[in-house]
Amino acid sequence: MVIANDITDERSARVGEATARLRAAGRRVGPTRMAVLQALIGSDAHPGAEEIFAEARKARPSLSRGAVYRALDALRETGGALELGFHDGALSANRYDGLRPYPHPHFVCLACGAIHDVAAGGAGERIAEEAERAGFRVERYRMDLYGKCPACQPGETEPERRRNP
Ligand SMILES: [Zn+2]
Ligand SMILES: [Zn+2]
Repeated sequence: MVIANDITDERSARVGEATARLRAAGRRVGPTRMAVLQALIGSDAHPGAEEIFAEARKARPSLSRGAVYRALDALRETGGALELGFHDGALSANRYDGLRPYPHPHFVCLACGAIHDVAAGGAGERIAEEAERAGFRVERYRMDLYGKCPACQPGETEPERRRNP
């Protein structure tokens, strides 16, 4: 668990890191990209391109859908965003994590589509290390848990929602 101030610091650090990575790769970092990046990193919800488009448009009304997809591609390619693709019908659109743009476990709610990070104490890294020890060269990993989030479990009290600072 992180406290509010750390979240703010983490977000601004992520924006700085992502723009540095884009520039290092010779990619453009104009106001359009910045609006997309702010919308992505401002969200804890692993938003999809459409949500990012809607949010970034508030800051930049002239923004086009194509520009959002191009910005997300550039961020993914330079390591500024983690893309989570879904093809199983429960979630049809790709989702993005700009706060933790590296492999980590996720919980995916099949009822409401919410995606949460799971604090797994480095379990993913340990599995990757085991695979390396067995001779596999691991480039990335993907670990998703599927089910119902607390808010979607009937008869359970809704958890106290954490507010953004
Ligand atoms: Zn849910
Ligand atoms: Zn995540």
